[in-house]
Amino acid sequence: MTAPRTRRQFPTLTAALADFGVPQENWPKIQEIVADLDLAQFWIPPSRAHISTAGATGPIKAYIGKGSIDIPQPGGEPLRHWLPVNSPNPSGPRAAVRELPVQVCPAHHMQLPANGQCEDCE
Ligand SMILES: [Zn+2]
Repeated sequence: MTAPRTRRQFPTLTAALADFGVPQENWPKIQEIVADLDLAQFWIPPSRAHISTAGATGPIKAYIGKGSIDIPQPGGEPLRHWLPVNSPNPSGPRAAVRELPVQVCPAHHMQLPANGQCEDCE
């Protein structure tokens, strides 16, 4: 059972990654990026915008999204790492379906029906 407006803590990074729905293809890269950060806390804030991570004490060290990681930099913009799978909705069953290009009749500039035959040309 989840309480949607509370921050959810996880004992390990992988538990947080699984709960957040980060594609497993990205896990090795994430673990590589955060390996030096000495992380001890992993949680998902009520917004569920990302996984926040920190050491045993101190500030947040990395924000992990489904397709990218932001590492806060002292006095500057966060450093963003893109992950191998970073489409906006990579976990959905439709992610693998590529949208077909729309076919247009070269003479009439009308979108063709599924059979590819322009009704005005026939
Ligand atoms: Zn036509």
